[in-house]
Amino acid sequence: MPQIIVNGKSVHTDPHETLLEVLRREGIRIPTLCHWEGLPAVGACRLCVVELDGQVNLVPACATPAAEGMRVLTHSPRVVDARKTIIELILANHPDDCLYCPRKGSCELLRLANELGITERTYRGAKIHHPKDVSSPSLVRDPEKCILCGRCVRVCSQIQHVGAIDFTSRGATALVAPAFGDGLNISSCIHCGQCVMACPTGALTDARHIRRVTSALEDPSLTVVIQHAPSVSVTLGEYFGFAPGTDVDGLMVAALRRLGFKVVFDTSFTADLTVMEEAAELVDRIRNHGPLPMFTSCSPAWVKFVENFHPRWRENVSTCKSPQQMMGALIKNVWAGNNGVHPDRVFSVSVMPCTAKKAEARRPEMLTEGRFDVDAVLTTRELAELITMKGIDFSTLTPSLPDHPFGTRSSAGKLFGATGGVLEAALRTAFHMLTGQNPAAEPIHALRESEGIRELTLKIGDLELRVAAVSGLAAADRLLGEIEAGRMNPHLVEVMSCPGGCIAGGGQPYGHDATAVASRMQALYKVDRGSVLRFSHENQEILRLYREVLGEPLGETSHRLLHTGNGGHHVR
Ligand code: SF4
Ligand code: SF4
Ligand code: SF4
Repeated sequence: MPQIIVNGKSVHTDPHETLLEVLRREGIRIPTLCHWEGLPAVGACRLCVVELDGQVNLVPACATPAAEGMRVLTHSPRVVDARKTIIELILANHPDDCLYCPRKGSCELLRLANELGITERTYRGAKIHHPKDVSSPSLVRDPEKCILCGRCVRVCSQIQHVGAIDFTSRGATALVAPAFGDGLNISSCIHCGQCVMACPTGALTDARHIRRVTSALEDPSLTVVIQHAPSVSVTLGEYFGFAPGTDVDGLMVAALRRLGFKVVFDTSFTADLTVMEEAAELVDRIRNHGPLPMFTSCSPAWVKFVENFHPRWRENVSTCKSPQQMMGALIKNVWAGNNGVHPDRVFSVSVMPCTAKKAEARRPEMLTEGRFDVDAVLTTRELAELITMKGIDFSTLTPSLPDHPFGTRSSAGKLFGATGGVLEAALRTAFHMLTGQNPAAEPIHALRESEGIRELTLKIGDLELRVAAVSGLAAADRLLGEIEAGRMNPHLVEVMSCPGGCIAGGGQPYGHDATAVASRMQALYKVDRGSVLRFSHENQEILRLYREVLGEPLGETSHRLLHTGNGGHHVR
């Protein structure tokens, strides 16, 4: 195995590894502001420079292949001085705004300035003023805090195949912005928030809903009801010292009650409902000539992606509302009436792993009886902030359970939080709808891979059901290309916009930590393994809802509350 010498110690390298990969594997922290896991190195910020024996110039570790015999110094005085100068130059025209910045507790630039011991302004650059872009329902863009690292540009174009933002202008006036300097609202942005996850500073952040939620909680005339998405319970704990993948479901529900929410429901319940409706829609499309394949609709950034870039496939997207919107419609149109609350006095909040859910909640077809199903959407990050703001000692709370009737879920509904999970849950119920029997609820391992296009053919009675799952929109684009070229012909396709699914959604803890994402995924699978209720169609509260309110899947009331459009497949 090739060896290099790092700070005097011999270290092995694997073929094609960069110096950065070797050093990080060895537990040596090398700062970067432009590098992003999974994308090719660009060597733009130069913060990862190291010193090589025998070379005059420092080299960027991210773009330098590790070669046999190299002697590397990672923190020599020259290296540290160079890194410090780079940060000082970035700060030369950066606003002195940390106290009021949404990223002050998680800013990579601020952390590096601290780590490098920067305590005074060394360089003074011209400040160019740009207004904040608050036009998007999901994101806020603050160009004055942009350090031109380019992560967002590359994530948006290479991981999501969108290209809503790019570098404009040159030199001191260079900027990252949508085309023609317009607002994000009229760009091709699909609201996924993956750029927010990648941004090291406060230049891209959530469109915050905390204020409107606290105002509602303070209004005695309102009944504030909250729902929480399947993936949030396995990520929220990271803000309160729990290891990634710790399921803090009970503590989270207790915290929501402590915050003052009168009623707490579990969005996994309406994930079960989505399974019922989506499986019925699939069977109906198969029996009544399509259109096929049917694409899942629970990821709003994917729905917007189809609308923006592949409108010919719009009719193939399921008409089911997402679990968030189904729950919102049930809260105002079923729960409120049953509990003597006028729907206008209900304020419906959701906690979601996703910035696109904020935009989804404002789509015109997400009104039922003239009211928005969901009034405010908090990301996981915002919920953590709210819990901290209210002085709640999260880890010492006594765990609590969600309320009935929309708090009972199967573990199939919980699987919605990971890529492949919607499909796995839907297949369990579609099998039952087509055969009258339950399939073995064994994990479908082919769908539990987190990367690439996964295909599967299942024999269900006389039918050979072909399904596929994909996450990340560049991968979805490839999959559409395969279908259009006739190389794939699935009946059902699950698309999650964020790589890995909602556990790595644009509203989750900042950054990209592949190990943390894998732990969160395993936590959801553990819930499924340990559950006695693993089929959505066996959820007794779902069956009762159909008996007492909805009638049957795809029935008239279901269409009114749970589907977009007027009930046809062609109206989304
Ligand atoms: S982006 Fe970071 S350095 Fe800039 S104002 Fe915000 S917290 Fe401070
Ligand atoms: S939210 Fe998604 S689509 Fe919009 S700019 Fe960011 S990465 Fe691109
Ligand atoms: S907006 Fe953020 S991610 Fe994009 S270039 Fe600026 S600092 Fe980097």
